[in-house]
Amino acid sequence: MDHLLQVNHLQTAFRTDKGEVISIDDVSFSLKPGETIGIVGESGCGKSVTSLSIMRLLGSKGRIRQGEIRFGGADLTGMTEAQMREIRGNEISMIFQEPMTSLNPVFTIGHQMGESIRLHLKMKPKETRAYAIEMLKKVGIPRPEAIVDEYPHALSGGMRQRVMIAMALSCKPKLLIADEPTTALDVTIQAQILELMKKLRQDSGTAIMLITHDLGVIAEMADKVIVMYAGQVVEETDVFTLFDEPKHPYTKGLMSSIPHIDSGMDERLASIPGTVPSLHQMPQGCRFHTRCPYAVERCLQQAPPLMQSGANHLARCWLAEEHSPQERKEAAYG
Ligand code: SF4
Ligand code: MG
Repeated sequence: MDHLLQVNHLQTAFRTDKGEVISIDDVSFSLKPGETIGIVGESGCGKSVTSLSIMRLLGSKGRIRQGEIRFGGADLTGMTEAQMREIRGNEISMIFQEPMTSLNPVFTIGHQMGESIRLHLKMKPKETRAYAIEMLKKVGIPRPEAIVDEYPHALSGGMRQRVMIAMALSCKPKLLIADEPTTALDVTIQAQILELMKKLRQDSGTAIMLITHDLGVIAEMADKVIVMYAGQVVEETDVFTLFDEPKHPYTKGLMSSIPHIDSGMDERLASIPGTVPSLHQMPQGCRFHTRCPYAVERCLQQAPPLMQSGANHLARCWLAEEHSPQERKEAAYG
């Protein structure tokens, strides 16, 4: 099947007081209709900048310096703002972690949903209201006929996130970008929202780009995964291979930070020591070497490229193929 989205060698930079910094560098991936790609990594690794680049919502300080973003054949990097407005909320929708920041507190739910429905689907006011109610019903909002006239503050966090999803899907986008969609929600609501996204994907064939730091969410939702570290893709493969045989030490570190529920409490095992490097002071050589338990001399000098490391598996690490599974297990973090 043809790709819906192809991001090729994307490089995005931001102007700061200390000069321009490269926020994401040489990011490439692709997505087919109906497919879900998970983008995983700690905060500050470039996950959100990747999605904001696709939406061309980088603000006045950000710009795409290199690369292309092909969406249904056209390159989004060359589009005018007017063309992008046609695509946003229509062909590509986005949902965020905190729905309150994207919902306007002074307008009713119905009003806000109606704006985008009228704009993109060219419906009349009466049809628009009926359609908004239908969408609210679809995402499991109880009493949608009443909720449509409520203001955002009258709803719980889980309900607001459902409203956001209803809004995002009301124009039947080909691509849904979900940036930490369940992070602010409690576990039960989180599971419901993920179920909802799965169902909508199944019913409408929407492709999903799911951004999260939560590998549990990735395991549940994604077909394939890219792991980002310090603005670069460090590993890419299908979701089964990633969990079976992670190749990059960063990915392995993220996995050892998954809470172990079987122990009866939310016990976090070792997490990766250290922090993501500042964009102003990227380490020489491998960007992960300051935190990597495997680092050797070469890693300090030479930056590894993203290398083929098995069929359908890419990893940005000099040693990706040199560790046996046993050695990987024995390597300790923290
Ligand atoms: Fe660690 Fe070296 Fe691999 Fe970087 S290249 S992840 S420092 S082993
Ligand atoms: Mg983010």
